[in-house]
Amino acid sequence: MTPYIMWIMSQQDELTELLSQLAGSLRDEDLGDPEITVLLSQLVTIFEGRPEELPPELVEKLFQIKDMKKRFIQAAMAVGAGDANSLKSLTDSMEKEGLFKSDNKTIIQKVDRSAFIYMNPREKYYDNFAQCKTCMMFTGKTCTIHGPDVSVSKGDSCALYVPGDPMPKEKGHEMKSVTPEESGLYSGQVRCENCKYYKKGKQECGLYQTLNEKVSEKFNLQERVHPKACCNAFIEK
Ligand code: SF4
Ligand code: SF4
Repeated sequence: MTPYIMWIMSQQDELTELLSQLAGSLRDEDLGDPEITVLLSQLVTIFEGRPEELPPELVEKLFQIKDMKKRFIQAAMAVGAGDANSLKSLTDSMEKEGLFKSDNKTIIQKVDRSAFIYMNPREKYYDNFAQCKTCMMFTGKTCTIHGPDVSVSKGDSCALYVPGDPMPKEKGHEMKSVTPEESGLYSGQVRCENCKYYKKGKQECGLYQTLNEKVSEKFNLQERVHPKACCNAFIEK
């Protein structure tokens, strides 16, 4: 046991409160933050409490999350654990179900939203995210992978979008690697905020919800999406 863990065990009350506040303030975006996951993984090792039954559907969903720390964060968000006691209980329930074992044999592989090339917006390109104007392949008037004969505008987009600064120096060096039909070249603003599946009030994707609901044995798609994000299932409103 590290000196750090020994120290936090001596501070348990304060730390349970800290963990409560942390879990209560978590957003979906925080799931990928390495500092948060490391902190949580250290904190969950110190709790003791009385296990309670977790709903079987939740247990099944949690097993699909391979990373133990992300799994814990999702569990805390799902059951609304917002105080020290409920967090203690949650950690013990998860322990009881085997949810802290990364090599659990019952993990079910399901399709996540990366299959749709879902991309959260990059801060630098926030309002123009997913358009040619913020794509590395854009030269200003053409696209390096569509070739010199295909006219491309800054407000266009395609399924092969690569976030980054355009490269005007590549004008004249384009290569006809894909056709507009293959790339899905499209003239319009393709962010979630303009998609017919986007549910503005809850910031959720109706398509992902439907797939999770109707084909639950195949899909595990994170339903909360960013209004400035994009994916290749975009349909204009
Ligand atoms: S057409 Fe596609 S790859 Fe080319 S600049 Fe636009 S988004 Fe990028
Ligand atoms: S709202 Fe549209 S663009 Fe956004 S994730 Fe859903 S299908 Fe994709």
